[in-house]
Amino acid sequence: MLSAPKQLKSTQPRLLLIDGNRGCCTRLQETLGLTAQHLHCFSTQEALTAEPLNADDIVLLGLEHFDNSAFQTLRVLTTLLPTQPIIVLAPAINGDQGDALIRQGASDFISLDQASPETVLRAFRYARDAHKDKAEINRLRNSDPLTGLGNRRSFYQSIIQLISQVQDSKLQIALLTVDLDGFSKFNGQCGPKAADEVIIQLRDRLQSAVSNAHSIHRLGNDEFAITLTCAPDENLHQLTREQLKSLLPQTNMPFRTANRSSILPGSIGVAYCQPGATVELDELIRRAAMARHQAKQERPGTYRIYDPTFDQQEAGTSELEPELAFALRANQFELFFQPQVDLKTGKIAGAEALIRWRHPRRGLIMPGEFISLAERNGMIIPIGYWAIHQAGMKLKALQLEGYDNCRISVNLSFRQFQDSNLPHTIHRIISQNEINSAFLEFELTESALISDEQHVGYCLQELSNLSIDFALDDFGTGYSSFALLQKLPISTLKIDRSFIRNVADNPNDAEIVRAIINLAHSLDKKVVAEGVENTAQLDWLMQNGCDQVQGYLYGPPVPFKEFMRMLEKA
Ligand code: C2E
Ligand code: CA
Ligand code: CA
Repeated sequence: MLSAPKQLKSTQPRLLLIDGNRGCCTRLQETLGLTAQHLHCFSTQEALTAEPLNADDIVLLGLEHFDNSAFQTLRVLTTLLPTQPIIVLAPAINGDQGDALIRQGASDFISLDQASPETVLRAFRYARDAHKDKAEINRLRNSDPLTGLGNRRSFYQSIIQLISQVQDSKLQIALLTVDLDGFSKFNGQCGPKAADEVIIQLRDRLQSAVSNAHSIHRLGNDEFAITLTCAPDENLHQLTREQLKSLLPQTNMPFRTANRSSILPGSIGVAYCQPGATVELDELIRRAAMARHQAKQERPGTYRIYDPTFDQQEAGTSELEPELAFALRANQFELFFQPQVDLKTGKIAGAEALIRWRHPRRGLIMPGEFISLAERNGMIIPIGYWAIHQAGMKLKALQLEGYDNCRISVNLSFRQFQDSNLPHTIHRIISQNEINSAFLEFELTESALISDEQHVGYCLQELSNLSIDFALDDFGTGYSSFALLQKLPISTLKIDRSFIRNVADNPNDAEIVRAIINLAHSLDKKVVAEGVENTAQLDWLMQNGCDQVQGYLYGPPVPFKEFMRMLEKA
């Protein structure tokens, strides 16, 4: 028997081996010379009811055979222990079986017949380090450094859980979002230090005014979210009105910074989520924002409760919306291309396709002005297919010119997944036009992933069978579950440009970006930094192992011909 290697004797985390017949348990003890003190063996049933796991514990699943029940056990474990690294052990695991295990959520696998103590230990260390990165990122990503409150991401997490309790008729929620009128102007005039002081004062006032809040989060800048909850038989509307009564005087009091006193009235929007009238996460947030907008328009420093008539008023204000369908038929959309540069080779590795609208009267309209309208009225579905078709044709043109390795990414909106034919239609576009889908990538945001996990997972798998890659866009700004990240065929994380902006001089942003890069690499994913505008950011990203960059430093999005010229010059 081998003697226990030193590294393991001193490791804190426990190894929990889940193994129906104990065969693997004995083998692992023999291979590593472990005692029961280090290695705890359970049957599957025992394991799921055993004492709670520590964050560092490594879960090992010993498999005798690769049959359906083995995969089922793995699925149960990954579902019930989403934050725990799970390593599968079996006497022999071939490449295909290994791939299948990783797809089902295993962190790693070890073929015991070929395993030396070193390879086993390396796998444990890797799983533990990757796990530590995740825990650290979670901490950084959930809190707002200025106020110490939960940030937008943790707000999403908490509200998703609350909504599911409303769906089970166990709870009612009122979401209040607050912001200050004239805050950006104040920031510009008095500087960021004074602006930070205002934010801190606002936090203190919100905390003292709402005694019954379930939680208070800072969503960004001067925007805060207050969540009120009560039991289904309580009067939610009355509770909310009482809270508003104590809140309004607080948000309307002048803010004192240095020697001046500034009036920045707070506007509040309220939206309810109640059993029987449950609304989805995005819709609830949208309603609260819409109500706040109404309040602001009517009289700053007041509140409004969401009312469906707000939507009708809003729809009337956009003249672009009814023109979208015509614009598509009249061929008024165009894709621009922004280069993505590989930092190892310094060469253009691909481009992101970004849509523009050449409007006959208004000139070039940016997507920020019409994509959300198209999402709202469903036009994003045909526009999205148009964009995929166009991008595919441009990819073909590039390959004809000999740019064989240039990848093109296309943005996919969460709303496009509501079309149940999505994988099928994309398949058709690709095969009819003989597009080489291995160089096609889709960018999706974290909100798309959680909108309907199962269906999105299915679509991604189908498309990934066509060799299409996926990138997670605006990474860091939304809610993302690490379990999903591991499970879905996502090969790239695109770090949102809000983190890149100050990465070279803000230690907090630097820490987050570094952690994201480490996480991505430990999950074997590529990292692209967005919005790189200067060489200080570029140098920092190079030093910290970022794989690719995209941003004005290398070039803004340009028409296809111009992008071709960039490739020729490179
Ligand atoms: P996105 O996917 O995050 O795209 C990146 C945006 O950042 C682009 O804005 C790009 O022009 C801008 N950008 C690139 N480099 C820099 C930089 O160095 N500094 C700064 N400040 N900005 C930079 P754009 O083209 O206005 O697109 C806005 C958003 O519209 C995109 O954000 C994407 O979410 C959406 N979008 C664009 N095209 C499509 C499309 O075909 N389909 C869908 N569903 N959405 C699209
Ligand atoms: Ca994008
Ligand atoms: Ca982005």
